[in-house]
Amino acid sequence: MASAVDTFMGGVIAKNPEQKEFHQAVQEVAESLMPVLDKHPEYRKAKILERIVEPERVVMFRVPWVDDQGEVQVNRGFRVEFSSAIGPYKGGLRFHPSVNLGIIKFLGFEQIFKNSLTTLPIGAGKGGCDFDPKGKSDNEVMHFCQAFMSELFRHIGADTDVPAGDIGVGGREIGFMFGQYKKLTNRFEGVLTGKGLNWGGSLIRPEATGYGQVYFAEEMLKTRSESFKGKACVVSGSGNVAQYAAQKVLTLGGKVLTFSDSSGFIVDEEGIDAKKLAFVMDLKNVRRGRIKEYADEYPKAAYHTAEPGSKCNPLWQVKCDVALPSATQNEINAEDANNLVKNGCYCVSEGANMPSTPDAVNVFLESKVLYGLGKAANAGGVAVSGLEMSQNSMRYGWSREEVDQKLQGIMKSIHKACVDTAEAYGTPGNYVNGANIAGFLKIADSMLDQGVV
Ligand code: NDP
Repeated sequence: MASAVDTFMGGVIAKNPEQKEFHQAVQEVAESLMPVLDKHPEYRKAKILERIVEPERVVMFRVPWVDDQGEVQVNRGFRVEFSSAIGPYKGGLRFHPSVNLGIIKFLGFEQIFKNSLTTLPIGAGKGGCDFDPKGKSDNEVMHFCQAFMSELFRHIGADTDVPAGDIGVGGREIGFMFGQYKKLTNRFEGVLTGKGLNWGGSLIRPEATGYGQVYFAEEMLKTRSESFKGKACVVSGSGNVAQYAAQKVLTLGGKVLTFSDSSGFIVDEEGIDAKKLAFVMDLKNVRRGRIKEYADEYPKAAYHTAEPGSKCNPLWQVKCDVALPSATQNEINAEDANNLVKNGCYCVSEGANMPSTPDAVNVFLESKVLYGLGKAANAGGVAVSGLEMSQNSMRYGWSREEVDQKLQGIMKSIHKACVDTAEAYGTPGNYVNGANIAGFLKIADSMLDQGVV
């Protein structure tokens, strides 16, 4: 007989064919939630699970713009407003050629539970476009961002839906989109987060996801009376999340060995110190170059070219204590997970969203690795976005120390919620169940309170 999860997933897959990342994200949550539904028949009766997998609204739109050669380009934009059960829709925008509806829906779905875990009143959404910022001039990026916002602006607002950054969307893109929103609406309001400090941004927002990911790992290590001191760390990605995760590891006394991008990865066995990290930040954020150039600058480091389609990624064969995946979804498969465990890695804290495949997650759980899944471990970014919204509403800004302290408090409380909930539902140490269930309960009860809407 088919299990309750299989029956439920059969319906989700039939209704949303071809959206494989979305299926993957829903399956993981559905597996965690079955014991909750058994304990709470009121959630089944109100069809909470069936309602939660259906976005409240999906907007898909044409984004036409003109490149530097005068050619007309056409991209496809998305905004998925997933859940407003506990606050205005909130979640980032991703600009990457791989973007499609299934990817945006997986990200938006994860956001429901993540945002609920932050303790802040923020609902869930996600958006983006199949635009590739790589190799585009600043002028082209500006024209594209203006075209994108020329449609998006009518669907968002400071109390309705507040987008932020994600892959391919950093301070530059947020600036261009904010400028266009203001021009179109004649309103200066906190409609986006990740804004520049001079015009409504929050201190620590650029750092928040990477710092939070490391604070979460630190909490996990504490459960075994350990710390980052002297720990060897493998980091994937070299963008916003990876850079600040590395920076925090350094301040806590750990050693960072690697960075990657979609072309390949570097290993520096001597450790990437603050000076080398500054080189990476300039390379990636200012010169917008490739990580390969690190090995040109520091010849003792090795560079490995990426081999898409190969059965494992040698990045995850680098011997380490802690892994901090911070690039993209499904970047660690079961073989990679086995390699990590075999080489002594016992703590994984995900900065990226869903970087581990379901089989990889099983390897971590079975091997008793301290496994902090993205929706808990990377919630620091959206949490500080929530704090940016509060500061905008107050027309006031907190100091760096105040925001960092709040971020640390939030990461600690997410960690505690995961640990306590996993224990209460009979799976101690399982952060997957802990995060999914704790995130869900607040949403489900809010949906019950608000009736069938
Ligand atoms: P950035 O665009 O700043 O950096 C992304 C990094 O990942 C780059 O090094 C990029 O390399 C690499 N990458 C992206 N796609 C691929 C791919 N298909 N294969 C290999 N490498 C890839 O993005 P962020 O640092 O902001 O985001 C990284 C991850 O963290 C994403 O999963 C995002 O959803 C998640 N996240 C981000 C938050 C934030 O606040 N920014 C909040 C929570 C989660 P290349 O330049 O070659 O493409």
